[in-house]
Amino acid sequence: MKKRVPFEFASRIKYLPPYLFASIDRMKQKAIEKGADLIDLSIGDPDIPTPSLIVNAMKEAVEKPFNHRYPSYEGMLSFREAVARWYKKRFGVKLDPQTEVLSLIGSKEGIGHIPLAFVNPGDTVLVPSPGYPVYSTGTLFAGGRSYTMPLGEENDFLPDFDIIPKKVLLKTKLIFINYPNNPTSAIAPTKFYKEVVKIASKYNIIVCHDASYTEIYYDKEPLSFMQAPNAKDVGIEFHSLSKTYNMTGWRIGFAVGNREVLAGLGKVKTNLDSGVFQAIQEAAIVALGMDNDILSAIRKTYHERRDVLYNGLRKLGMHLIKPKATFYIWVKVPSHFDSMGLVTHMLDKAGVLATPGNGFGETGEGYVRFALTAPVDRIQEAVKRISGIL
Ligand SMILES: *Cc1c(COP(=O)(O)O)cnc(C)c1O
Repeated sequence: MKKRVPFEFASRIKYLPPYLFASIDRMKQKAIEKGADLIDLSIGDPDIPTPSLIVNAMKEAVEKPFNHRYPSYEGMLSFREAVARWYKKRFGVKLDPQTEVLSLIGSKEGIGHIPLAFVNPGDTVLVPSPGYPVYSTGTLFAGGRSYTMPLGEENDFLPDFDIIPKKVLLKTKLIFINYPNNPTSAIAPTKFYKEVVKIASKYNIIVCHDASYTEIYYDKEPLSFMQAPNAKDVGIEFHSLSKTYNMTGWRIGFAVGNREVLAGLGKVKTNLDSGVFQAIQEAAIVALGMDNDILSAIRKTYHERRDVLYNGLRKLGMHLIKPKATFYIWVKVPSHFDSMGLVTHMLDKAGVLATPGNGFGETGEGYVRFALTAPVDRIQEAVKRISGIL
């Protein structure tokens, strides 16, 4: 048979920036094959199991034939009502479950799809750097252009709107923000959210706030963007059950806020997916109504781990900020390394894996991210090993 011409990827995926995490995965596999006792602090995926209350609710729900059929794309009304109750209790914000709550197959699904609903080819989308990579890939898939908002330590890892040229703002359709922030672990004050509402109203920009980490905090409860006056006029907020309830594999999240924006996202979803398995939605209702004790215990676990890693790395003379939220620590690399250099050095010489900051965008160069997704004794061991190689 004649050898055929290779199938060519569409340019929208062909020109994706190289996925740094894939090469780290290869490095990791190699180290494991060589028999390294690897301490993996690179992944934002909780090592703690889903609380049994939720697992048991799922077992019951999966037995019901009613749940075996197509769900509705916007989510069961009972799930959306549970979200509205949780929101009122947690943030004091009232939501109409019929029009101001939309279920998602994980928040990543909604974040990736929202530009398809509102961004035309050539439109500008403001994205933070460092930042969760889906903001810019979702933009790229819609034909939009990402404009980078650098998040620097000098500005508490908040974007500085004053340095964005007016002509960029005039072409901007949508902005992504994310607090508590992955990867920097920064949180945002009320003043910042007010500023976002102001700029979004002035330039008619849709605000998409990724709030995946509001429940992973150490002292004070982080805010919701929706608590800012008039936030609902300009945007939506994404939430996820993944990080809060150790449910990353279950795939359920939700978006709340502006009904026109949610209707646009819903329109994309009706044409691409058929919603979240209802059994998962039923389990999620139980999760959202759960006693705060279970969540406090999860937070306590991260608290202990944070203290061990933060104090340990500080003692080694490393420069880092004590996280107030998220399960990440954002660490400046010593000046004789770059991000990838330090990651490779720690992996080769200490069997400790962290994520290079530049994997989250160029502005992340010069940092590495540690995830607190390993038990305390392993984190202690990691610090000990790093102390021998710096
Ligand atoms: C983990 C994560 C998500 C995605 O969460 P899912 O609900 O599991 O899709 C979204 N945003 C950020 C910043 C994350 O770290």
